[in-house]
Amino acid sequence: MISIETAKELIVKNIQPNSTSIKSLNFSLNHYLASDVISDVDIPLFNQSAMDGYAFKFSDKQLTLKVIDEIAAGDTKRVDVKNGEAIRIFTGSKLPESCDTVVMQELTERNGNELIVKDEGLKFQGNVRLKGNQLKKGAVALKKGTKLTPAAIGFLATLGIEKVSVYEKPSVAILATGSELMPLGSSLKEGQIFESNTHMLNAAINPFDVKLEINVIKDDLNTTKIAIKSALDKFDIVILSGGISVGDYDFVKECLLENEVKEVFHKIKQKPGKPLFFGKKGNKLVFALPGNPAAALSCFYMYVFPALQLMLGNLNPFLPSLQLPLAEKFIKKEGRAVFLKSVIQNNKVELLKGQDSDALQSFAIAHGLTYIPSEKDVVEQNELVEFYLLPQYVG
Ligand code: AMP
Ligand code: MG
Repeated sequence: MISIETAKELIVKNIQPNSTSIKSLNFSLNHYLASDVISDVDIPLFNQSAMDGYAFKFSDKQLTLKVIDEIAAGDTKRVDVKNGEAIRIFTGSKLPESCDTVVMQELTERNGNELIVKDEGLKFQGNVRLKGNQLKKGAVALKKGTKLTPAAIGFLATLGIEKVSVYEKPSVAILATGSELMPLGSSLKEGQIFESNTHMLNAAINPFDVKLEINVIKDDLNTTKIAIKSALDKFDIVILSGGISVGDYDFVKECLLENEVKEVFHKIKQKPGKPLFFGKKGNKLVFALPGNPAAALSCFYMYVFPALQLMLGNLNPFLPSLQLPLAEKFIKKEGRAVFLKSVIQNNKVELLKGQDSDALQSFAIAHGLTYIPSEKDVVEQNELVEFYLLPQYVG
């Protein structure tokens, strides 16, 4: 058995980003950049007015100026504005080379072609967006590993970038094992239960928008072996549920090893989710989650979610965590680290009732998981704890 910290280190060490491809900007949403994007241009592209107003030479601020022309946004004409002159200008218009300052129209007085500047606080180069002020030509616009969010895509479009190099999304197979598991809609006989883990994991993976296949099989050695082989042949990541403990019908580990999956770790000193297995076959990843639903989902968020992020090229793969005070004193058994389903109330962490490995009702309303390390047996009221925010609250 290994510690949570070691398990996380092994995840990071053993997972490389997926292969890369060039995508057009509009098909790159939620991908991660596979290389730095260098800007070919200065941003702003030229000296620009930030206001609707008048452009002139700052040294003429006290004079009555003569308005000689106007430049609308998109006008490419060149106008020479001399001393004592001003030009009508609009937000986004190119500033004439002979001007250095813009006054907003609300702070002027205009009579015919005569203009008086009434902005006491106006500074040299005021209301001007200077060429290259945001970003210089040749500079790194976005670094490798940046997620292409709507803002990132907008930003790259301002640079005129049409294509980006990104990491491909991995494909995922979910394989649930258990002879007691029946599909939704079945009339259950005593001893059978509704299969829920594939619905849950499907929903948890859905935001990644990856190719996904789901399969549910009985506890049978041969069936399990064949199903694992077929999943490994076709998918980058194989996530199993159930059958990884020590029961007589837990065939998963044996079948993984027979399929030449190499163990990276099996069993973590944690509750829930002690039996978690992580292995590799070449670059393919295999996670075998415990069957208990809450344990399976905790393991998914703490280990499989980061693995997916690493393959996608995210350099910060783990759930974000906050240090928050605990609302009430907590005592646990010695020696095992725990992840506790929790909510944030009044800026404090409240631990929910129902922390068993099969308890999903508490998970359904949890904002996140509170981590209490193995060596900490008592946490006092208001003591700070580490709280991992679930992705649905990260956005
Ligand atoms: P296992 O890890 O296979 O020993 O399963 C542990 C517990 O989780 C048992 O009570 C199983 O019935 C339950 N379980 C396993 N797989 C699933 C699943 N896919 N959906 C719902 N419950 C499951
Ligand atoms: Mg089972």
